[in-house]
Amino acid sequence: MELNKIDTGISTKEMILNIVLYKEDPNYPTVYRYFRRQEMPKQPIVERIKNFNEVALGFEPDQAIMEASRCLQCQDPQCRRGCPVGINITSFCGYVREGNFDKAISVIRESNSLPAICGRVCPQESQCEAYCAMGQTGSPLAIGALERFLADYELKKGITMPSIAPITGKKVAVIGSGPAGLTVAGDLAKLGHIVSIFEALHTPGGVLAYGIPEFRLPKSIVAAEVDYVKRLGAKLETNMVIGKIFTIDELVEMGYQAIFLGTGAGSPYFLSISGENLNGVYSANEFLTRCNLMKSYLFPEYDTPLIVGKEVVVIGGGNVTMDSARTALRLGVEKVHVVYRRSEQEMPARREEVLNAKDEGILFNFLTYPLRLIGNSRGWVEKVECGMMELCEPDETGRRRPVPIPNHSFTIDAQTVIIAIGQGPNPLLSKVTKDLETDRDGRFIADEWGRTSKRGIWSGGDVATGWADATVINAMGTGKRAASSIHQFLTTGQW
Ligand SMILES: Cc1cc2nc3c(=O)[nH]c(=O)nc-3n(C[C@H](O)[C@H](O)[C@H](O)COP(=O)(O)OP(=O)(O)OC[C@H]3O[C@@H](n4cnc5c(N)ncnc54)[C@H](O)[C@@H]3O)c2cc1C
Repeated sequence: MELNKIDTGISTKEMILNIVLYKEDPNYPTVYRYFRRQEMPKQPIVERIKNFNEVALGFEPDQAIMEASRCLQCQDPQCRRGCPVGINITSFCGYVREGNFDKAISVIRESNSLPAICGRVCPQESQCEAYCAMGQTGSPLAIGALERFLADYELKKGITMPSIAPITGKKVAVIGSGPAGLTVAGDLAKLGHIVSIFEALHTPGGVLAYGIPEFRLPKSIVAAEVDYVKRLGAKLETNMVIGKIFTIDELVEMGYQAIFLGTGAGSPYFLSISGENLNGVYSANEFLTRCNLMKSYLFPEYDTPLIVGKEVVVIGGGNVTMDSARTALRLGVEKVHVVYRRSEQEMPARREEVLNAKDEGILFNFLTYPLRLIGNSRGWVEKVECGMMELCEPDETGRRRPVPIPNHSFTIDAQTVIIAIGQGPNPLLSKVTKDLETDRDGRFIADEWGRTSKRGIWSGGDVATGWADATVINAMGTGKRAASSIHQFLTTGQW
């Protein structure tokens, strides 16, 4: 490959800045950094809207090397600060640049037990990539795509297991097998503790298994990463609803010296408007669970059909909305409308997924909110009556507050309505556990190390307080900190 002949795809300004900043580094030819940011190939739009196969297809090895060569190898890398689990990004990129993929993935594995998942669903644009120095002069390094490439490379060739510390004999119970629970379990199993994960559903993985669709996160990838945590030594029991089968206090009596609650936020919020009980109205949680976990998209191979009309309205603006809308489209719906009360700029969904949804033909109604759902005489939803909003001053979330415009309403035909306006924790565990404090939304109150109000009980991920966004990597970050605090407690008794 002749580097000088490659179309670098960056502006003269970027090139000059790069030369000024980095020309003194004799070991690292600046020309490498002039490649355009590599984008992952995707399934063509006309094909992908008819199937549930993964949309993004991943880097080829040459592309990964080219992309990693753009890393500036900063002396004080900020990207690592943007990663809640603290992956040494410059180090793994250095190895990719040399084509040493084995070493590169081993660097990632030091901090992250679920790299194939994070490489696919992490909002890198607001985390590691937002801190990348390359972003100041052009496009940040495609860190997520590189992580995914390495994780897939390793899955294909077989994962090299790390060494496990000698068994300590200390028993830990992890409630919930989402990213928070899996991280705690993996980290503590590596340290030699006896870890049992209790999962309420029949399939492990939490939202990764029941929420995020196959076309964004194949379930074989989730299964492989769960398997890795099991191979580290964690025992997994499914169909175990803690709070019903055993209480937390009973687990303590059974000899568990530390308990981590990573039970997520699986209870959907509703709109409290007229018509919400009509047939054809789903919570996004139910809709996605039926599709992902009960495999209704594989009907009739799986005898679990999901009834959707020709037109679907999805209400909300986050990742859950995008996933519901794109799932509905793939089930054969003719028109999918998203109804969101703020403007596109305020949408919390990942930008990449909003663009994918637009490319696929999802219709967006911004500054719009549902007034009521209108049904037919047989009790099925037929239309959504909507009002219009305008944006005023920012609210406590920093986003501009939507305010209804009087006398502006219209209807959208819809035989299926999916409500995706957020979810909170299931109250089961807090109800049956004494001395476990929660906030007004029912989240367990936990400090930065995940310690709750009850000695010996930690919590993290979506069910706990103390962090901003509900993301996979944030859940993992809380799990990592809790694991280190639990380890200290088990080895020194210090709470
Ligand atoms: C549809 C959807 C799409 C998303 N997309 C993205 C994305 O693209 N990127 C991103 O970063 N984040 C995304 N998120 C958010 C992210 O998935 C969550 O923040 C993350 O999964 C939280 O992890 P967790 O481990 O705290 O909980 P969860 O993943 O919710 O896992 C909790 C687990 O605990 C189990 N459980 C609950 N109660 C009990 C009990 N009493 N006993 C035993 N087990 C119990 C549940 O069954 C579940 O398996 C998405 C969320 C949804 C719903």
